[in-house]
Amino acid sequence: MSTSHDNDIRSWLDEAVAQMEPRLIEIRRDLHAHPELAFEEVRTSGVVAAELARLGIEHRTGVGRTGVVGTIRGARPGPTVAIRADMDALPITERTGLPFASKEEGKMHACGHDLHTVTLLGIGAVLHRMRDRLSGDVRLIFQPAEEAIGGAREMIAEGAMDGVDMALSLHNRPEIPVGRFGIVHGAANSASDSFDITVHGKSGHGARPYAAVDPIVAAAQLVGQLQTIVSREVRALDSCVVTVGSIHAGEARNVIPDRCELKGTVRTRQPEARDAAEEGIRRICEGISAGLRVRCDLVYRRGTPPVMNEEGMLQRTVDAIHAQIGDVADEYEPSLGGEDFALMAAMVPAFRLLVGSSQPGRSDKVHSSDYEPDERCIGYGVRALARTVADILA
Ligand SMILES: [Zn+2]
Ligand SMILES: [Zn+2]
Repeated sequence: MSTSHDNDIRSWLDEAVAQMEPRLIEIRRDLHAHPELAFEEVRTSGVVAAELARLGIEHRTGVGRTGVVGTIRGARPGPTVAIRADMDALPITERTGLPFASKEEGKMHACGHDLHTVTLLGIGAVLHRMRDRLSGDVRLIFQPAEEAIGGAREMIAEGAMDGVDMALSLHNRPEIPVGRFGIVHGAANSASDSFDITVHGKSGHGARPYAAVDPIVAAAQLVGQLQTIVSREVRALDSCVVTVGSIHAGEARNVIPDRCELKGTVRTRQPEARDAAEEGIRRICEGISAGLRVRCDLVYRRGTPPVMNEEGMLQRTVDAIHAQIGDVADEYEPSLGGEDFALMAAMVPAFRLLVGSSQPGRSDKVHSSDYEPDERCIGYGVRALARTVADILA
C-alpha cells in the first residue's frame, strides 16, 4: 500500500467515525439504560437488527437464540473475516447515578458489552461503505450470553463461524487509558475447568475410628496434596491455580460421616499445564483412595479454553492501529478469567484487542456497580478494527 493510499484511508476513516460517533453513543446509552441478561437479549438484538437494516447490511437474527449475524460482501473474492461483540449484561444493580443508568433493577452493563455492541455496529457501518474496495467478506457476530458462557457455543452450532477464515474481537479495559490499546501475546486469559470430588468412607462412632473409614481425614490430605500440582508439577513459568472453594462433611462431633464433598476450580493458560492439572488431580484422588481406604469419585469438567491470540493476527492489528492512530498499542498482562470467544479462536487464527476505556476519577473496575467507562473508547475501537479488516481485505 502506497503512502498516499494509506493517508487516503486514514483521513476518510477518521472522518467517517467522527461523523457517526454521536449516533453510536446515543445507541450505547439506550442499550445501557435497558440491559438484558444472558440469552434474554431480545430488545438488544432488535436494536442491532434495526440499525443493520437502516445501514443496508444483510443479516440473520435468532442465531444462537438471541444472536445476530451481519454480512458485508466485498466487491472481489477473498477471505472472510469475522468480528465478534458480546451483548449481555450482568445481574448487578447500577449505582453510577448517570442520566442513562440502567432502568432495570438488578441488571447492569457493568462489563461494557454495550460498548462492544455499538463498536461492532460502527465497524459494520464503515466497512459497508468501503465494500467496493474490499477483497473478501466481513461477518459481524453479535453474540448473546458471554458472561454465562454459552453464547459462542450456540452461535457456532448454528453456523455463525461457517466459512470464516480469521476472527477478531475486543474488550474494553478500564485499566488502560482511553486512546490506547492492550495486546497480549499467546494465551490472553485462562481455561476455566471445574471438579467435584466425593470422598466415600465408612461411617462410625467418633471414639472408634479403627472401625470406620474417615473421609474427613482423607479429604484434608487431599486438599493439601492438590496444591502440590501447582508447586511441584506444573512448570513454574506457566500459570496454574487450583482452588477448593467448597468442602462439606459431617453433622456431629462424635460421628465419623460416610462421605465428604469437595468442589473446586482450575485455571490454566497453557495446554500442558491444563493437562498436567487434570492428570494430577486424577492421580492424587487414586493415591488417597489406595492409601487411606476411601473411594474418591472425581467428576472433572473442561470449560472454555483460553483465548489464543495468533501472532499474525495480532501483528496485523498492531500495524493497522499504528497506521490509523499511532504508536498506542502496549503489551498487557494476561488474565485468569474465562471468555468464550476462545471457542471461535480455536477454529481460525484470531486476536482479541483490549481497548482502553478509563475515565480519570471514575471506577476502574468492570463488574462493579459504579463502572463508568469513557465512551470515546467506541470511536477508537471502530477505527482500530475497521482499519485492521480494511487492510486484511485490501
Ligand atoms: Zn464480564
Ligand atoms: Zn466482558
